[in-house]
Order: sequence, then C-alpha cells, then structure tokens
Amino acid sequence: MYINGEWTSAWDGGRRPVVNPANGEVVAYVAEGTMQDADRAIRAARRAFDEGGWAETTAQDRARILFRAAEAIEANAAELAALDTLSCGKPLRESEADVTDAANCFRYYAGLATKPTGQAFDVPAPSQTFVVREPVGVCGQIIPWNYPLLMAAWKLAPALAAGNVCILKPSELTPLSALRLAALLEEADIPPGVVNVLLGAGPVVGNALAESHLVDKVAFTGGTVTGRKIMQAATGNLKKISLELGGKSPNIVFADADFETAVDYALFGIYVNTGQVCSAGSRLLLEESLYDRFMERLVERAKQIRVGDGFHPDTEMGPLVSAQHLSKVQQYIALGLEEGARLACGGSRPAGLPERGNFLEPTIFVDTRPDMRIVQEEIFGPVLVVQTFKDEEDAVRLANDTVYGLAAGVFTADTAKAHRVIKRVRAGITWINTYHPTYNEAPWGGYKQSGIGRELGTFGYEEYTEVKQINVNLAVEPTGWYRR
Ligand code: NAD
Repeated sequence: MYINGEWTSAWDGGRRPVVNPANGEVVAYVAEGTMQDADRAIRAARRAFDEGGWAETTAQDRARILFRAAEAIEANAAELAALDTLSCGKPLRESEADVTDAANCFRYYAGLATKPTGQAFDVPAPSQTFVVREPVGVCGQIIPWNYPLLMAAWKLAPALAAGNVCILKPSELTPLSALRLAALLEEADIPPGVVNVLLGAGPVVGNALAESHLVDKVAFTGGTVTGRKIMQAATGNLKKISLELGGKSPNIVFADADFETAVDYALFGIYVNTGQVCSAGSRLLLEESLYDRFMERLVERAKQIRVGDGFHPDTEMGPLVSAQHLSKVQQYIALGLEEGARLACGGSRPAGLPERGNFLEPTIFVDTRPDMRIVQEEIFGPVLVVQTFKDEEDAVRLANDTVYGLAAGVFTADTAKAHRVIKRVRAGITWINTYHPTYNEAPWGGYKQSGIGRELGTFGYEEYTEVKQINVNLAVEPTGWYRR
C-alpha cells in the first residue's frame, strides 16, 4: 500500500492474491489492509491537509503536478494497460483506451485548476460580495474493478486539482494499476500524505473511510447495495457523499434508424468490457415492426464475437472479472429461463477456452416481460435483454420502468423524435445515434437509484469543493443598530 508517501505492508502482514481472470493464475500478492492501516492512512491524510500545505498550494502548482502525471501515465501506457488486462481481463485494446482516457482526465483537470470558478454579486448594500471555492478536505474514494485505472483517475484528478487530499481504496480484485499510478504521482512530486492508496476488504477499510469522523467526503463508485451502506455509514459526521451506482439502461431503436449502425451499437452497448459497465445498454428496446429483421442480424453478429484472453490480439470480449462474478451472472441466466424468457443466443461457457477462465458467451434473452428480474436488475455481464414497444409513448414508459436512471440511448433518423424521447427519459447520460462515448468535459452520473452527484467536467470538480461567501464592507463605520 502507499500511505503517507511510503510503501508499506499491512499492519498484521496480511496479503491477498490477485488473480488473472483468463486462467485463474495468481499474478501478484498485495497487502490486505486492516482497520489499523485505514486509521494510519486517514491520520496521514488529515495531517497532510491540515498541516501539510497542500490546500495552500497555488492552482498552478497543482496543475503542474497533474500535467506531469498525465505525461507519466502516457509514458507508462503499455505497462498500465497490461496491469488492467491482467487483473480485470478486458481486451488489451480496451485497457489501452482506458489509459488514454485516464491521462486525458488528469490533463483536463490540470487545465481546469487554473480557470476562474468564483462569482461576484451586486448586493443591496455597500458591500463587495463574492464566492470562492475551497477544497472539501480529506476525501475517501472507493472504486470498483471494472475500470481500475480510469476510475482512479476520475476520482483523484478533480479532487487534487481542487486542493483536496485523497485516500483511494481500489477494488480487492484490481489494485495493481492504482498502485502503479501512486508511484507515478510520487515521481510527479505529489507530497507525502496527499495521495494514499489503501488496500483491503470493502466492508473493512472501505467502511472505515465512510465512517471516520476525520474524513470530510466519501466518493464511491460501485453497486447500489454498497452505495446504500456507505450512505448510512457516512451519517456519523454528516460527511459529503457522492455515489456513482448501477444501471439497467435502455437502448431504444426505432424502425427508421440506420440499421447497421443500430445493430453495431447494440452490440457495443452491452458487450464492451464483457457487459461489466455501469452504463451498459443492457435493455434493448426494439420497435415491434423492426424486431424480426433486427434480431436476426443481432444474433448473427453476437455469435461472431471472439471471446478469449484479453492479451490475445484477436480477442473482442474477455472473461468476467472473477469466478464468483461469473457464477452470479450464470444464476441470472438460470433465473431468466425460469421466469420464462428464451435465449436467442449464448448462455453457456464457450468451448475451447481454459476451464479456470471466467468466460461466458455473448448472451441475448428475448420473450421477456417488464416485471422479470432479468429485466429489472443489473446483471453486470454480457447478457442483453430485449423488449419491444409499439410507439414512442410505449418506448418512454418502458425506458423509465426501473429503479435506475443512469444512461439511455436512442436510435432514429427523426431528430425531433429523438429529442422528444430523450427529454422524457429519466437518466443522467444520454446518447442519440451512438452509445457509450464518455467525455472528460461532460458530467457523468445518474438519476433515481443510480447515484448522487456527478463526476467529470466542471460539475465533477465542484463536487470536491466547498463554497465560501466573502462579504467586504465598503463603508467601514458602526452599524447604528444599538443606542450608544
Ligand atoms: P461493489 O459495490 O461490490 O464494490 C465497489 C467498491 O466498494 C470496492 O472497492 C469494494 O471493496 C468497496 N466496498 C464493498 N463493500 C463496502 C462497504 N460495506 N463499505 C465500503 N466500501 C465497500 O461493486 P463492484 O462489484 O466492485 O462493482 C460493480 C458495481 O459497480 C456495479 O453495480 C456497477 O454498476 C457499479 N459501477 C458504477 C459506475 C458508475 O459510474 N455509476 C461505474 C462502475 C461500476
């Protein structure tokens, strides 16, 4: 682990294996942090914020370090990508894209750090009244395994740009690239205690971050059930929270859409990162008149997707992250069949791949009903559920019919129709005639039970700031309110 600028073992010497999901081999052992380690990291961060001077650095100083970090990430791109493929399983080309996005995230916030953020007001008094943004303080940042490096960047870059100190808690399954990133930040001159990487079990060290009264904010990305626990744990000192949670996002295709484009994005929407994407287009909503033709082509293309080891250059879809997660996804497939849905393709482990790899075929369920659990719940794997709709009204009703509200896509040649639908969809991230592009410039986050707050863009930066108003009296004289 990396605590207070030092590389350290767990307090009790505990270790945890990191496993390659493509073949079940242990690729590394990392420290398994305890409550004592969490306490150590929290106290180090507290000192760095209260006494270390980071909050008093100029925006330009912080920008310089973040620009350096971006350069360092790019200079070590091959290694960082390999670490994510090794522990998460995603095809190397996906890990490479994540590294590029992570570097650009640091660069974006390096630039933003020096841009104006305040406001001044014309108030009805002889007063100069304005607001400034200041760092929140010590931030606990808990991230999942599906984008190990990128999630670390989304958390660290805006927080550091705004002058906060960070305790990053990577997933138990994928800590390697975050550790490497800490080393690169150290080389980029991040002072001791300003970035700490705390490893260990979520319910132990993650919960400690959420509970501690010395932590000012907890930023979490992960499952909705965990998000709820974190929100409860954070009540003790009423710390600030931001939550990026799950989804069951609709990808709506109208009959007038560009056919091949819509088929292509339907596949990309669900199968990129083996469906382990919070914003995955996991519900495909097809206009009834398009159904037969679309499904024929979709199934034909899904069956052609090459599943395999992420390091193999031909691989288009890697394994699921762990044997435990594979088993959870398989249980959903069994449940779907029990509920009466039908498999249009997939559902099994592909032949000819290592037994101990967590591989699964691209899977599509049809003949679904809106009340089925496979339609309502996040499966977080390569499992697409198909629903049909009659008209625009029906499409919107079905799109909004889950507890989630993270993302949505619409495919149609009719621009006005696309906008009408998007306007009525209750989701924070929407796409017209595309699916999945994500930009550092634009806010990321969900409506309803998909989360609280936003990451990325200026919105993501503001989540890491407190707002202070400053009133300067321009007429320095007694108030005259009380008799003298
Ligand atoms: P998870 O909720 O199990 O774990 C996420 C992180 O929380 C891990 O670091 C874990 O150690 C930690 N954690 C677990 N229990 C904790 C507790 N009680 N207190 C504090 N920390 C705890 O999620 P996961 O299985 O790693 O990731 C998959 C989930 O993440 C999916 O539901 C997915 O939708 C969601 N996700 C959302 C986004 C988004 O931006 N909205 C992005 C990626 C993943």
